[in-house]
Amino acid sequence: MSETLSILNIGGHPKDAIIYAGGTMAKHAARGDRVTILTPTTGLSHHLQAIDEYRDSGDMPDVEALVDERRRELTDAAAELGVTDVRFLGYDDQIALPKEEIVNDIADVIGEIRPNVIVTHWPYDTVPTHAVTTQMTLLAIDAASGIRPGKPYAPTGGDTAGETAQIFYHVHLGRTNVLETLNVRVPTTIIDITDTAVLKANAMNKFTSQHYGEDSPLHRKLGEGMDGGTHAVHARVAYAEAFLAHNPEIYEYLPVSSYRRKLSARPPEKLFDDMTKMLLS
Ligand SMILES: [Zn+2]
Repeated sequence: MSETLSILNIGGHPKDAIIYAGGTMAKHAARGDRVTILTPTTGLSHHLQAIDEYRDSGDMPDVEALVDERRRELTDAAAELGVTDVRFLGYDDQIALPKEEIVNDIADVIGEIRPNVIVTHWPYDTVPTHAVTTQMTLLAIDAASGIRPGKPYAPTGGDTAGETAQIFYHVHLGRTNVLETLNVRVPTTIIDITDTAVLKANAMNKFTSQHYGEDSPLHRKLGEGMDGGTHAVHARVAYAEAFLAHNPEIYEYLPVSSYRRKLSARPPEKLFDDMTKMLLS
C-alpha cells in the first residue's frame, strides 16, 4: 500500500476548494501527499467586480479575459498552499445542471490520479452549483470505477492504493436558509489548520474578483468566522476545517486519535493560548 495519499479537492466555483478546505490541503501538500484541485466551472457568474462594472457602465465585459482572470486567481491561490495540480474545466456556471460531459471530465481526472480521498460540497447545499458539483462527483466516481472504452479506470470500494476510500463533505452552510438548517450538518472530522491558517489567508487574497486582496479585511472576517468559529473553539484549537465523512470508517479497535489525546494533555495556559490565538491581520 502506498504511503502517501492522493487527494482530489473539488469545489463548484473556483474559490470553493480553497475557502472550505485550503488549510487542510496545505498540510497534505507539505506532508508530501499528492493534492489536485478541480473546479468544473469558470465561476464567472460570481465575478463580483465585473458585475458591478457592468451594472454601472452597461458595457459587456471581455468574457474570455474574465475567465482567464478566474483561472489565474485559482492557480495563484493553490500555489500559496503548495498545490500545483489545478484542473480548471471551464464550464459555464450561470445555470447549474449535472452535465454528462462534465461528469466524464471529472471521471477522467479520477481515473488519472486515482484519489484515495475526495473532498467536496455537502450534497444538499442550497447553492445550486455546489450541490450539482457533488452530484456530478458521485456520478464520476461511479463512472471512473467502470469500463469506459479508452478511458482511465479507478476502482472504488476498498482501502488499497488507488481506490477512493473516503469522501469528505464540507459542513459550512452554503447559505443561511431553512433548507440548509433542516439538514443539520454534523461534522465527523475536524482538521487543526492553525499552522496553515496564514497560508490560507494569503491564498484567499488572490481572489480579487470577489473583493479579497491584501488591502481587504474579507479574509480575516471569514477566516475568523468560519475556521476560527465554533468547530475550532469546541476542538480547543485556534483554527480548524470541519468535514463530514461519507463512509463510516473501519478500524481494528474503537478509535481515539492520538492528536486529540495530545491536545487534551496541554496545560491550561497553553490551551487558553491556543484557543485565543488570532493570526489573521
Ligand atoms: Zn461556491
